[in-house]
Parts: sequence; C-alpha cells; structure tokens
Amino acid sequence: MIPVNEPLLDGREKELLTQCIESGWISSEGPFVTEFERSFSHYIGTEYGVAVCNGTAALETALYALGIRKDDEVIMPSFTIISCAIAALRLGAKPVLVDMDPETWNIDVNVVESKITKKTRAIMPVHIYGHPVDMDPLFDISSRYDLKIIEDAAEAHGAEYLSRTRNQWIKCGNMSDAACFSFYANKIITTGEGGMVLSNDPTVADRAASYRDLCFNPTKRFYHTELCYNFRMSNVQAALGVAQLERIEEFIAIKRTLGQYYKEKLQDIPHIRFQVEEPYAKTVHWMYAIELDEECEISAETMIGLLKERHIGARPFFVGLHAQPVFARMGLFKGESYPNTDRAHERGLYLPSGLALTTEQIDTVCSSLQDIIKRSSGHAR
Ligand SMILES: *Cc1c(COP(=O)(O)O)cnc(C)c1O
Repeated sequence: MIPVNEPLLDGREKELLTQCIESGWISSEGPFVTEFERSFSHYIGTEYGVAVCNGTAALETALYALGIRKDDEVIMPSFTIISCAIAALRLGAKPVLVDMDPETWNIDVNVVESKITKKTRAIMPVHIYGHPVDMDPLFDISSRYDLKIIEDAAEAHGAEYLSRTRNQWIKCGNMSDAACFSFYANKIITTGEGGMVLSNDPTVADRAASYRDLCFNPTKRFYHTELCYNFRMSNVQAALGVAQLERIEEFIAIKRTLGQYYKEKLQDIPHIRFQVEEPYAKTVHWMYAIELDEECEISAETMIGLLKERHIGARPFFVGLHAQPVFARMGLFKGESYPNTDRAHERGLYLPSGLALTTEQIDTVCSSLQDIIKRSSGHAR
C-alpha cells in the first residue's frame, strides 16, 4: 500500500526520547517543553509559544486567550476541520461561516466583511493544505472593525505569505493576534499528538499558558477563579518536536518538490484541477490535493475506492461545517448554503504525500489516476 502520509523519525528522535526516560522527565515539567516552545516560536518568528496537547486544544486556548466568550461571533471558513467550530462553541461563541474561494480553496476573503455583525469579535482564517490565505484584506477588515485574527496554521508549518501592504514575506503563524499549529502525526513536523499557540502579545501568551494548566492561581496554589483544562504537552512529546524541528527545512523542501513533481505529472491529464499557488504564496503542500472537474464521470469517493483497489491511499476533502449533522441538531447554519465547499467535498481528494514517498510511487499514483479517468470516460461514451 502506498500510504497517504507517514512521518520521518530517523533524526535525533530516539536519542532525545531516551534522554526523557533516562532523566525521568516525562511530564510537562520537563525541559524539552520550554525548549520546543522557544525554538518553534523562534522559527515562525513570534515572541511567545505555548505548547498544548493537540491542535484542537490550541484553537480553543487561543480564542480564550484573546478574550472570546459567550455570544461572540467568530468568522471562519465552512471548508475546514470541525476543530475550528468546536473551539468557538466550547467558549459559548458562535461560528459564522464563509464559503471557500474556488481557486485557493481558502476562505473567500471578499465575503468576510458581509458576515460582520455587532457580535463579531474575531476572524479565523485557515491556511488550507499549506497554502496561505490572502491576509491583506483581512488585516484591513480587522483594523476597520477592531476584530482579532486567529490563524489556523495547523497545515502550514513554514509556508510564507507576501503581504503587499507590508511589502514583505511573512511566515504563516506570524500574521495575527494568535496562531495555532498542530503536530499530529500527519502534519509537517510531529510530536505524535501536540499543538502550539503562538503570539507576540505577552498577555495572550500568559492567558494561554493559564488556560492549558487548569487556570492555577499564580500566587495562591489550588485556588481557581476560572474553569479551564489540562491541555499540557508532555516532555516526551516535546522531545520529538525538538528533534523534528531540526529538520523542518528539509521536510518542507521534500513537500515542495513532491508538489511540483505531482503537478508536472498530472497537468496534462483531463478533468484534474489543482489548488492554484498564488503569486503571494509559498505553499508547503502539506497534502497534495486535487479536484476532479464536473465533467469527470466519477466522484472523489469512487476515485478513492478505485485507488484503494490499486493499493494507493487517498482521502476525501472536509465535509463543510454547514453540512455536519451535529450542528444541524444544534440548530446551527440552518438554510445556509456554501456551494463551493459542497463541490470541493464531492470532487476533491488528497493523494499520497508522505515525506518518505519515492518518485516511483508518485509515478504509480499518477498513472493509476490517468488510467481510471480514461476508463471512466470510456464507459460514458
Ligand atoms: C489537524 C488540524 C487541526 C487539529 O489538530 P489536532 O492536533 O488533530 O487536534 C486543526 N486545524 C486544521 C486545519 C488541521 O488540519
């Protein structure tokens, strides 16, 4: 089977994990946690990093740290993982959705302003599959309406954005009031499970650190004035993170090469559409994703099944937040429609994108795709 994704763990991972065991530091008190926070935030370019147990927890922690609370509204794309909506809902806030841009598959920044109400407090752009959101229009909106921006950069470690208003390339995760990363096993660097909140604001960092640690009172032990969580990252996870971060440039180069190679191989096959890399973007191709166009006889779901028969792993796109049964039951997003998100869900899939993937394996994936598409259009005639 050609896997959809797999981590590369052949750097110093084993050495640093052994250090955890030999030193006995396995909880969140160990030294790798602060080292990972320092080195990852330094890599992205922010002042502060607060490590947490996963990316979903990072999103909730960031919203809390920015002061989002009951009845506030947070604008986000419908085309994203449920974690974004969960983060808002857990704090009593309401997710407000925007459809995707059909070229970049990111939140349609031209629609965001029309979704602002008196209750809007924040915008949560998500850099989908490692392609940066066009942030300039969001910077403009957030300053005019005094809104917070929380980047979900869980898929975009090392991706860069050219801000035309600031006239510079900026790393994803360093463009907002708070940013969130995930270090789940399939992300660009991994701690197995893990996440981080980044910010340049010391108050945000302090509040995030408090939220992840049960909101312990700094002066009076075991005395609590707020209801929080244990979202701490362990030293064992952070040891993996430190080792992985040493190789991040190498991993990003692999992903970018993989993306270019796929594009070359696939661009002449009919019915395949790509996530456009805009001039303002340096994507990291977290996952190499394609859409089968409307003329293609088969859906993404069918394609995934046919690829599986050929021992090739592929995965479907997100189901839009507006189409989630759990939210329908809660009475959310009733009667709202996001046609680009629905189409992407029906037509989109991501292909094997692991760091250990060989060119021969990519060749196999591409020729299989070509063969399946050819056969399917043959049937139609
Ligand atoms: C992976 C991911 C998350 C959640 O991260 P976990 O560590 O799995 O909780 C959040 N947002 C996006 C866009 C992701 O891809």
